[in-house]
Parts: sequence; structure tokens; C-alpha cells
Amino acid sequence: MSSKKCKGINRAKDFQGCGEESNFRRYGLCPCCYKTWLLTTDEGQQVIEKQSLKAKKKVTKIKKRSDRIKKVKLMTKSEAEKKLQVIINQIVREIDNGKGCISCNHGWDSNWTRQKHAGHYYSRGSNPQLRFDMNNIYLQCSICNNWKSGNEMAFTDGIKKHYGLDQWRKVEQLKATERNWSKQDILDKTHVARDILKRLQNGESFTRNEINDMIKL
Ligand SMILES: [Zn+2]
Ligand SMILES: [Zn+2]
Repeated sequence: MSSKKCKGINRAKDFQGCGEESNFRRYGLCPCCYKTWLLTTDEGQQVIEKQSLKAKKKVTKIKKRSDRIKKVKLMTKSEAEKKLQVIINQIVREIDNGKGCISCNHGWDSNWTRQKHAGHYYSRGSNPQLRFDMNNIYLQCSICNNWKSGNEMAFTDGIKKHYGLDQWRKVEQLKATERNWSKQDILDKTHVARDILKRLQNGESFTRNEINDMIKL
């Protein structure tokens, strides 16, 4: 900044200033006059208030971020897995939207009146390593999911009938899959999964395999 005479401009245009040459000016005022202007005029007070509000907001933001980091640190792996599962299940409901229940006729040629669930072919209990695999999870009605323990025979038929034999072969081969993910892996996958869900909700479409590849499931 070049040296200029101290004289109020913009917000401080009503403030005379000392008229001395100064290299550093705010609203045209030298540091000394600027301080006086801040403390003695309504316009100056407004600037102070604005700055302190900004500072407060910044502190809140930093605190929120550190709380979030703490929360993630304290989260157990199983809690992280549960969070990822919720998003994966939402993704399944999103990509199977418009289809019917994998295990019964509900929704294929009638309107959905039941709750939409995401049903696992190999259960989470028996095959935890497949709990996120897109080829293992399909749109299922609440009745089949809750009361018929997945309706397994019908589930098999449903995959063959509605998704084809190639898809069924993929499902059959899944059992050989081995996976061992750390909590950090799960957190990273959650990040990607959340992004994919957003893109699906915004109208993009992906196949099961594409999603598996993107999230590395
Ligand atoms: Zn001055
Ligand atoms: Zn059903």
C-alpha cells in the first residue's frame, strides 16, 4: 500500500482523519484514527460487532469439527459397520427402486404397500464378510425380511427370475469371499458410499458391480 493522507472513505467517509501521510490505512484512516473511529462511531461499532460475530462463528465451527473427530475416534468398529450398513441398505433401495420384493410377488405387478427393506441373501450373522456386498443385498418387502427369515428358497428363485442366471452365479460364488477390514477401512468406505448415495438420489445410476468396485466392497 502506498502512502496517502489519512482521510475517511467508504464506511468511514464521515470521519475526517488526521490528514497525516500513512502507509497503512483502513477505510482511508491511519492506524491511530482507525482505532478512534472504531471506538467512537456507530459505524465503527458495527464493524467491531461483525468481527466478533465472525470470530464466534469460527470458534463454533472449529469446536464442531473437533467434536466430530472425537466422536469418530471413540466409535467402535461395530458402530462404524452399523453406520455403513445403513447407507448400503439405502443404496440398495435406491438402485432397486421400481422393482418388487426379491422373495415374493409384492411390488412386481402391484403397488408397494409394505415397508421397503434391504434383504441379505447370506445373512449378516452367518456371513458377516458379505454384509456390505451389493450382490448379496436386494430390495425386499418387510414381511419377507422380518417374518420369513429372508424367505430363502424364494430369494434364490427371485434372483434367478428377476436378475438372471449370471447374477445368481455371482451370488453363489460370494461365499468364498474373504475380507478383513479395519475400522479405518470401514470409515473410508462410508465416505465413498455416502457420496454414491447422493449421486443416486440426484438421478445417476450405477450397477451393483460398479458400486462394489467404487466402495471396494
Ligand atoms: Zn490519522
Ligand atoms: Zn416379500
